[in-house]
Amino acid sequence: MNPRCDALIVTCFDFRFQHFFDQWITAHLEPGRYDRVALAGGVLNWEVVSHQVELARRLHGVSRVVLVNHEDCMAYGEEGTPKRHRLDLKLARERLLEQYPELTVELYYARLDGPLEPVE
Ligand SMILES: [Zn+2]
Repeated sequence: MNPRCDALIVTCFDFRFQHFFDQWITAHLEPGRYDRVALAGGVLNWEVVSHQVELARRLHGVSRVVLVNHEDCMAYGEEGTPKRHRLDLKLARERLLEQYPELTVELYYARLDGPLEPVE
């Protein structure tokens, strides 16, 4: 039987945000009970994100997925407006829930100077 954990968190790999992500994780996820993926652009590359979620589901039985994009994302470049980030996050959640209706999917947007804001 595979080892199981509660959650998967997917964030951008941008070094400027890792301490904010770490703080959020410490406050909101069970220590040692989550998978963590860092990809340039966060949810920008849907194929990769989708595959990581599929693996986390299949290998570790995660039931909660946290997706985080952020302000001033170089992977998005000029296209990375707050509106675009929110749109991509919501689309990612929609697609994941179509595939895994039992999942809990949480969305966050991180600003350069601070804590993660929930995206409704
Ligand atoms: Zn980024």
